[in-house]
Amino acid sequence: MALPSHDDIIDLARRGLRGCGADLDELLTAEGSGTIPLRSPITGQALGHMRADDAASADAKIGSAAGAFEQWRTVPAPVRGRVVQRWGELLGEHKEDLAALVTVEAGKTPSEAAGEVQEMIDICELALGQSRQLFGKTLPSERPGHRLMETWHPLGVVGIITAFNFPVAVFAWNTALALVCGDPVVWKPSETSTLSAVGAHSLLRRALEENDAPAELNQLLVGDRGLGERLVDDERVALVSATGSVRMGREVGPRVAQRFGRVLLELGGNNAAIVAPSADIDLALRGVVFAAAGTAGQRCTTLRRLIVHESIAGDLVDKIVAAYGTLSIGSPTAEGVLVGPLIGKAAFENMQSALEAAKAQGGEVLCGGQRVLADEAADAYYVEPAVVRMPGQTEIVEAETFAPILYVIEYSDFDDAIALNNAVPQGLSSAVFTSDMAEAERFIAGSDTGIANVNIGTSGAEIGGAFGGNKETGGGRESGTDSWQAYMRQATNTVNYSGELPLAQGVEFL
Ligand code: NAD
Repeated sequence: MALPSHDDIIDLARRGLRGCGADLDELLTAEGSGTIPLRSPITGQALGHMRADDAASADAKIGSAAGAFEQWRTVPAPVRGRVVQRWGELLGEHKEDLAALVTVEAGKTPSEAAGEVQEMIDICELALGQSRQLFGKTLPSERPGHRLMETWHPLGVVGIITAFNFPVAVFAWNTALALVCGDPVVWKPSETSTLSAVGAHSLLRRALEENDAPAELNQLLVGDRGLGERLVDDERVALVSATGSVRMGREVGPRVAQRFGRVLLELGGNNAAIVAPSADIDLALRGVVFAAAGTAGQRCTTLRRLIVHESIAGDLVDKIVAAYGTLSIGSPTAEGVLVGPLIGKAAFENMQSALEAAKAQGGEVLCGGQRVLADEAADAYYVEPAVVRMPGQTEIVEAETFAPILYVIEYSDFDDAIALNNAVPQGLSSAVFTSDMAEAERFIAGSDTGIANVNIGTSGAEIGGAFGGNKETGGGRESGTDSWQAYMRQATNTVNYSGELPLAQGVEFL
């Protein structure tokens, strides 16, 4: 299947940006020091270069966000909610435009890219409702004539660091809640997603303007991880919400802790699905193939480990391999393509070394792993998703390789399957396919991941539930339920209307 030309991709980016209210030609500058390349994994080529923020402009942007906080914190939360309401409407009107930028920069199919923008719209709706529900509690006081309560208050500047594979949705998860909670945001997107970031940022700017809210509430830092480090170390940033690799989290977590800032980490996953003998095999098959090969294996929730009962392993694996054979691989802009490119050369090399390590550790590659379309685009990395049968959960299986490799391990005892599910350092998502209610409940109680599903794959979460994982995944929770509390400062208040001064615990003094 022919890849689109470089000009086609530039044209798609230009149209997408224009729809979002920005102009590609105005952004482009000559390559040089202080610029960042704009690249598409579809062709592997640079679309141009853009000026990056330097230390002084980053400092100024964090400063003006901190300034805007002083006003925004005094605006009633339901009024703040109108900004995210409008942002959601604009995202709906420009869904295709922003999705085009996600396709250009992350290589997602139009359907998956539109799904990512839909997630932004969904979180805006949730945040709008949340703006009237930043609930505190009133508690019985042990003293007469006293009221004891907990209240929630705006926190301060939220620094958002995001990964390449969800270039805009994670920004919205954080920003929609941060804004209704009364906080400005300073966003450092992945260095591979600058245009998508400009698109999402421009639509939010418009929503702010139309609501007479300060534009300074929404700051974009264009550049590499050095800018992320500035956010991490800046005392004016009250919360650092960082999404990316475990390596990044290991660096960010202690640095924020050092200055007693608040941190929310959303890091790597190594997600497993258990398929039990009673499972509906056709349903499991579809769930497994989407979760393992969708987005070219580049979701934090991608299925990487299939733990399948020995009695059905042969049959299920044959079906998976057959289904993989039907997946169309190529440019996501082409009709019918389901598997787009890897983000770049390093991802491809990591995949190849993981496959070599798997073979050295007793694995048998059942299908995939080969690079395709290299003759059409030497700098783009398309691969056939791989399925590898492993003799057990060896060292390479315990690591997250951010590429489409599905390791298959057999089990005979259900408790052992749950133990295997848990025996990795990461703890993001997991699933069981079973028709046995007791097994499903044992799995939910026993899996140590932040997301644990029954009869559905590991990827594709809805925003209504809290999203995040345990262990090396970082422990953060974003999106729904009570995740908003991370963006607020909690206070416990005792109000004395008794005219006396009884001390707690009956203490006598004066
Ligand atoms: P990455 O860690 O290389 O980069 C992520 C972001 O962190 C980028 O913006 C980068 O510039 C910045 N960064 C890197 N080092 C930093 C540092 N020391 N200080 C401050 N900022 C720093 O990750 P990636 O390759 O872009 O994304 C893939 C990884 O992200 C995978 O491990 C995937 O599982 C994970 N991820 C997790 C979630 C989740 O919600 N748990 C979601 C998406 C991706």
